[in-house]
Amino acid sequence: DLGSEVEIEAEIAEDVGKDDLLGGLRIDSTAEIEVPDRLVDQVIGQEHARDVVMKAAKQRRHVMMIGSPGTGKSMLAKAMAELLPKEELQDVLVYHNPDDGNNPKVRTVPAGKGDQIVEAHKEEARKRNQMRSFLMWIIIAVVLGYSLIIAGQILLGILAAGIIYLAFRYGSRSSDAMIPNLVVNNADTKTAPFEDATGAHAGALLGDVRHDPFQSGGMETPSHDRVEPGAIHKANKGVLFIDEINTLDIRSQQHLMTAIQEGEFSITGQSERSSGAMVQTEPVPTDFIMIAAGNLDAMENMHPALRSRIKGYGYEVYMDDTIEDTPEMRRKYTRFVAQEVAKDGRLPDFSKEAIEEVILEARRRSGRKGHLTLELRNLGGLVRVSGDIGRSEDADVVTRDHVLQAKSRSRSIEQQLADDYIERRKDYELQVSEGYVAGRVNGLAVMGEDSGIVLPVMAEVTPSQGPGEVIATGQLKEMAQEAVSNVSAIIKKFSDENISEKDIHIQFVQAGQGGVDGDSASITVATAVISALEDVGVDQSLAMTGSLSVRGDVLPVGGVTHKIEAAAKTGMDRVIIPQANMQDVMIEDEYKEMVEIIPVSHISEVLDVALEGEPEKDSLVDRLRSITGSAFEGGKGQ
Ligand code: ADP
Repeated sequence: DLGSEVEIEAEIAEDVGKDDLLGGLRIDSTAEIEVPDRLVDQVIGQEHARDVVMKAAKQRRHVMMIGSPGTGKSMLAKAMAELLPKEELQDVLVYHNPDDGNNPKVRTVPAGKGDQIVEAHKEEARKRNQMRSFLMWIIIAVVLGYSLIIAGQILLGILAAGIIYLAFRYGSRSSDAMIPNLVVNNADTKTAPFEDATGAHAGALLGDVRHDPFQSGGMETPSHDRVEPGAIHKANKGVLFIDEINTLDIRSQQHLMTAIQEGEFSITGQSERSSGAMVQTEPVPTDFIMIAAGNLDAMENMHPALRSRIKGYGYEVYMDDTIEDTPEMRRKYTRFVAQEVAKDGRLPDFSKEAIEEVILEARRRSGRKGHLTLELRNLGGLVRVSGDIGRSEDADVVTRDHVLQAKSRSRSIEQQLADDYIERRKDYELQVSEGYVAGRVNGLAVMGEDSGIVLPVMAEVTPSQGPGEVIATGQLKEMAQEAVSNVSAIIKKFSDENISEKDIHIQFVQAGQGGVDGDSASITVATAVISALEDVGVDQSLAMTGSLSVRGDVLPVGGVTHKIEAAAKTGMDRVIIPQANMQDVMIEDEYKEMVEIIPVSHISEVLDVALEGEPEKDSLVDRLRSITGSAFEGGKGQ
């Protein structure tokens, strides 16, 4: 099978629990882990994509891989190249065409033969040149001898000798021109070729003919010598990998199609005004397997003919972002750390505790209960930074502490921005984290992908002249309106209050930062509105996140871990999150003591926790506080 088990000398314990982060491996460090030889055996997860690659390698089919960056697409493409038969590899030679100098001839020979042929030609040319120069010196000697001794014409003699010398040089140049140009050389390749043509310009992809500044007069480089192969030619009998396929210009995509269909593609100069553009070789083989990759967007934007070509004659696979966290998987992640250490070549081995910390991070980054992240390029980055820190300290092994340092060092731009933002707001005292204020609620939002911020919401309710309006500004306006309409539906049920007759102003305090996703702030808006309406204070040492349904249910939202951490950093004491999100909470230990997490499933519970004091009997707040989800069942209905 595909190296699916981690092979080590040490024993593997049976019956491993969730807390056994190495999945039962009894090791002291990565030094004890064996890294498989074949790349395909090193791939973690991506079972489906790996099966497809194995199958496609046998059947010589093209593959389209869709998925997040750093999940192993190019790794699998390389792995596929390793799986292809080496016996079929070819060398390609380009020869001068004596009949038409602009149409060089192409010859394909088994791998390794190309070098020999070129050598043989060189040898022959050398011999010929030796003969010629021998001849030349004899003639020069005769001519010089004759002019000096017999005719007494020294100058004439030297001149004649010079002319003879140049004539011979010119002759040997043109015999060098007969040496073929070895454009594809597989003599030393250990596996079938892997060519990464991501972001390649036309010349690099399709081949090119260099410009010749001396286009005549005996100084020119013969055209066949100026021919350069493209990735499609170098990938012959191997794998051509193109990530972000949609960024390839349309013309190149069309040519790529032709190369795939015909299995061969002539090389010509790519820049129109260069002398190379006049040259076109005979067809050069392009019998490669293409692995095109990208995100979903890439697939939609690629040339439809190219896409259907792959679809019709190949496979499409989706890469997984996360994988289930099982003991076997954790053993593989242990091996992953060993693989990355081996790949880098300069890092110390990782101690058991350091590996455990990396695996914890893989859990955290998955953002999903019971899963590990498969965005392994990034996790590999953490391994390298940790290793570098260990190395800079001359440590024998990388320790847990090194990994922790690396984690705080390798923060994303968004995280750094969020930290800076929190600091600045502290300076300006925009952050209120104690006491009670009516109409003001500390919401939580996600910035970028992996950082949270506290985003306070202020609400004010004023009598309206005409029909009531919800007045909010900025990118969060729509969300605010929806939240208000949900909360007014709820309020209507429980009181005579009709807030559609009032103007409701919603302000997100300093939400001016780009990239703030406020979608999950609807319980925040609702709480702010109710608090403003009833003029009851809201606990400012509390932050909240959650989405509100029209029935008052609090629905799950994204990014809870980052949000809770942001709340803790900002000095909040308590955080309200949706009950359904409890399983996603993977905050780091240091934050666990700093904040209390309160799971809720209904807006009544939010109000109960957030609002100040005991409400007056039968007030709106009292009624809202005391309801439960079931109060809606069989109620007035919407
Ligand atoms: P992609 O092409 O999807 O952007 P790569 O294949 O270039 O990602 O991955 C970059 C590096 O991350 C790999 O060289 C490898 O070290 C690591 N990596 C990514 N995915 C995996 C995986 N599934 N298994 C093992 N290592 C992986």
